Amino acid sequence: MSEIQQYDVVVIGAGPGGYVAAIRAAQLGLHTACIEKEPALGGTCLRVGCIPSKALLESSERFLEAQSHLAEHGVDVSGVSLNLDKMMARKTKIVTGLTDGVAFLLKKNKIDRHTGHGKLLGRGEDGQVRISVTADDGSETEITGKNVILATGSSVATLPGLEMDWDRVGGSTEALSWPEVPKHLVVIGAGVIGMELGSVWNRLGSQVTVLEYADRPLPGQDLEVSKRMKRVFKKQGFDMHFGVRVTGARVDGDSCIVEADGQDPITCDRVLVAVGRKPNTVNLGLENLQIETSKRGRIPVDGNWMTSAPGVFAIGDVKPGPMLAHRAEEEGVAVSEFIGTGHGHVDYSAIPGVVYTEPEVAAVGQTEEQLKEAGIPYRKGSFPFAPNARAKALGQTEGFVKILAHAETDRVLGVHMIGPRVGELIVEATMAMSFSASSEDIARICHAHPTLHEVVKEAALAVDGRAIHS
Ligand code: FAD
Ligand code: NAD
Repeated sequence: MSEIQQYDVVVIGAGPGGYVAAIRAAQLGLHTACIEKEPALGGTCLRVGCIPSKALLESSERFLEAQSHLAEHGVDVSGVSLNLDKMMARKTKIVTGLTDGVAFLLKKNKIDRHTGHGKLLGRGEDGQVRISVTADDGSETEITGKNVILATGSSVATLPGLEMDWDRVGGSTEALSWPEVPKHLVVIGAGVIGMELGSVWNRLGSQVTVLEYADRPLPGQDLEVSKRMKRVFKKQGFDMHFGVRVTGARVDGDSCIVEADGQDPITCDRVLVAVGRKPNTVNLGLENLQIETSKRGRIPVDGNWMTSAPGVFAIGDVKPGPMLAHRAEEEGVAVSEFIGTGHGHVDYSAIPGVVYTEPEVAAVGQTEEQLKEAGIPYRKGSFPFAPNARAKALGQTEGFVKILAHAETDRVLGVHMIGPRVGELIVEATMAMSFSASSEDIARICHAHPTLHEVVKEAALAVDGRAIHS
């Protein structure tokens, strides 16, 4: 029998949380292994999440632009047609390039890669955590770690009554690879996935019906933002229904049927179920180290990302918090720094979020509703993109930037944006919040002209009622 390999750090899962944690651990001189069950590294984000969805969002937006928006720039094009196979092939090439890149990074950092399902087995006599790795062919190896980082991420959640065939009634993974444009698509859930992937297929020509339980789309956003996006999505041709609880969906011959409380059944070609994601803890062996999960199945951790089992940590989607790739990455760095140096830090008050619809939505910090509920006094400055020179040149003037600052200290508490490329603009707000900036600090910074960033400056000036261009 070959000797059991021993590591300082074993990471289970090679998504943005896991592979980043492994690289940082290796940089700190720790002997590190990374276990991943899929042949390609990069996790949900690279394989079936952030990256393929953004590739399709970009391509579908170009298609729409060529069809309907280039003419306003005086660029006349005719005969625009969709080559879906080519669009999908481009997406796959981007994904493969990036997943291969992660494999290169693990190799470069001398991280041992183990392909197979990782499971906690318990502790050896030396106190180290024993982990089995089961490959697809059923062969099993065992390794041990002084420290283990659980970074197993999440998968598509479903609802009782939904008969998923994982093709025509499927989740986001299927919706990233459909071979033809559905004539009529029903999206269940108007959250981030529903509206991003709904946008892709809406732009490519599907009639898209969205059924949402809440009274507005993107219900996690600041109320003013999600109310505005409700108008925007309706204008884009989405058939939106709110306050609807979906109770069933199934394939029925050549069609699919969706049922909801108080609604006639809807017949359509495909169904995208986008009602959230659930943590991956099945057959992870948590019980072998007496690690308990929360009611929602996530793994609770302390301030240093340690679970109830000493030396076993959890990061990313499998632990509580917003399911975002960059949150997982930050935790990946921090947990390895904690293991390697005794100190790790994530500023949870300044984790941005971006929805890659058109226009984009971006936010960092607290919403107006959260501030009101917490009884925190605030002042608000808002400025639209409509008068901004760069937005006019782009031909994308929908949206605004809203800055919420403490009424007494002027410290920025939240920034909410709808508009062109606000997924990039939000970095300025995140940086400001990370450095505990006031709205006055942002207002006093020289912003290049003509740029979209000038709207952020004007919103900061508006907190004090002195925006220049309104
Ligand atoms: P994951 O990326 O899920 O990685 C976990 C890895 O662990 C997987 O590779 C899995 O195969 C592996 N694994 C699980 N169990 C085991 C086991 N027992 N043994 C071995 N390996 C195992 N977030 C953003 O910030 N921006 C976006 O634009 C964005 N877009 C998204 C679009 C879609 C369609 C989806 C579905 C998600 C999107 N997300 C986005 C969310 C983002 O993908 C996740 O928050 C992020 O991937 C979480 O990273 P993670 O490392 O925690 O887990
Ligand atoms: P979500 O939580 O964003 O949205 C799910 C929606 O489904 C909610 O609006 C909810 O009210 C609705 N819903 C739930 N049950 C329902 C029912 N029975 N009938 C009708 N509607 C119902 O979840 P998601 O869109 O699946 O995304 C999952 C996670 O992935 C999110 O946490 C998100 O952070 C992450 N993600 C992020 C990005 C990004 O950062 N751009 C993109 C995609 C996904």
